[in-house]
This record gives sequence, structure tokens and C-alpha cells, in this order.
Amino acid sequence: MSVTNSQKLKYIASLIKDCHKCSLYKTATNPVPGAGDPNAKIVFIGEAPGYYEDQQGLPFVGRSGKLLDKLLASINRERKDVFICNILKHRPPDNRNPQPDEIKVCTPFLKAQLQIIKPPVIITLGRFALNFFFPADYIGQVRGQIKKLSWQGIDLTIIPVYHPSAGLRNGAMLTALQNDFKQIGKFLDKIK
Ligand code: URA
Repeated sequence: MSVTNSQKLKYIASLIKDCHKCSLYKTATNPVPGAGDPNAKIVFIGEAPGYYEDQQGLPFVGRSGKLLDKLLASINRERKDVFICNILKHRPPDNRNPQPDEIKVCTPFLKAQLQIIKPPVIITLGRFALNFFFPADYIGQVRGQIKKLSWQGIDLTIIPVYHPSAGLRNGAMLTALQNDFKQIGKFLDKIK
């Protein structure tokens, strides 16, 4: 009997739960490995868990998550249709930015998740997820672009957008996010 993607992702989640490769596990309440369809065609990658994510062990369940739900609805998708995860799997204290050493030791888990799911489309939310694939790019310059990348043997389409938390802080960024999701919707309709 072959091992399902769901089983493989659960195994990765168990490794994340026991990970002590950086110090974030000491201050976190729960690991947040990611959630959604183990066979998703679209993966959303954010930055790191915040307070509510850390409390519940689930990605994007706070204010940014509510906005993400609306943006998903605008492209006729629900959480169960996609996979949502983060660059870091444990919450940084006070929601500070991920540090380079944390990104280095944590992203092998993200790589493993992507190797299991092999999604044709990835939407990066904010600069940390963008820079994981395109280290030299600036989010303000490339957001909304449909970028192709051959990555670790997978042919990816990557569409970078602002992080939802930026949309909550700034009206112009919210408009940009909503417009970029319109383009994402059109792109998804085309490849169906
Ligand atoms: N912000 C993120 O980047 N990820 C979450 O899961 C929640 C908020």
C-alpha cells in the first residue's frame, strides 16, 4: 500500500513538533506546520505564525487570516481547496521578523512539504516567502507578476503578493492585494 500525501505531511508535522534546531520552540505554544488539501494545486506561503496561530496550531487564523479568507473567496476558493503554510513553523516572540539562521534551519520542512504536494502554483504572501524563491527580488516591484521557476525538479508558477497584514495596515496595499487576486483568479481560470 502506498503512503498518501496526508500521511507524509503528518510525518513532516511530527518532525516539526520535535524540532529544536533553533530556539523558537522554547517560547512557542504550538508548532504551526500548515493546513489544507494534501493534494492542493495551489500553496500559499506566509511568513510565520502570530499569536492566534501559535495558540491554535493553525496558519492564518488571526486578522490576516480573515482577510486571506476573503481574498480566497474572491477567487472562488476555500481553505480546504488549498494548502496554507509559512516560512517559519514556530512563532517568533512578539511577532518579530524571521532571522536568517531560523529561516535556514526551518525551511527544509517547507521544502519537504512542497516536494510532497508538488503544487503547480505557489502564491507567496509577503517578502520572506518571495525571497525564499527569489532572494534578490523586492516585493513592491514584482508583486502580481506571474513568475516561472524550475525549483528542485518541480516546474512552478509563483505569484508574489503583499502579505495580508500589509493590506490591513495600508489601503493602497489592500487595493493592490485585491487587484493581484483578480489576476490570480484569471490565471487559474486559464490553466483549468
Ligand atoms: N502571518 C503569517 O505570515 N502567517 C500566519 O500564519 C499568520 C500571520
